[in-house]
Amino acid sequence: MILVTHSIIGSALVHTALSVGGAFTAGVLSHYLFDMIPHWHYHVPKVKEASLRAPGSAPIKLSRALLADIRLVAIDLAFGLALSFLFFDGSWSVIGAGVFGAVLPDLLVGASKFWPQKLLVLHDKFHRWIHTDIRLDDRPMLGITTQAGIAILFVLFFR
Ligand SMILES: [Zn+2]
Ligand SMILES: [Zn+2]
Repeated sequence: MILVTHSIIGSALVHTALSVGGAFTAGVLSHYLFDMIPHWHYHVPKVKEASLRAPGSAPIKLSRALLADIRLVAIDLAFGLALSFLFFDGSWSVIGAGVFGAVLPDLLVGASKFWPQKLLVLHDKFHRWIHTDIRLDDRPMLGITTQAGIAILFVLFFR
């Protein structure tokens, strides 16, 4: 799922949580759970190429094209944070921890490509294993509406 959707799911689930640690953990778990559902990704060819590289292969170098893709991911993340604080009332630290947990697995996958450290590579393998094999990247209409639908449902139910 894209980071906006992960963020909204995470903040929806945790915004009434009593502890920052609990919110963070629930956010992380929600990431893996929702990555199991077939979903769409926006077009970031260099990020996709990097994320599909064999776990533990040599570190990648920052190119102009990769930086442009990373900028899109950063915008995705910024929207996720902003919408989470907009939609849900609660402690800023709890919501922030929930969103951080909900996006962290993808950030760790990204980090493993620059720094193929043992634990990061292991996490990359786990993320590949749990991530659905069904990608709706070529079906944006279906992919975007389902992800928007999931986000809207979470806002309506948990707000
Ligand atoms: Zn995905
Ligand atoms: Zn993921």
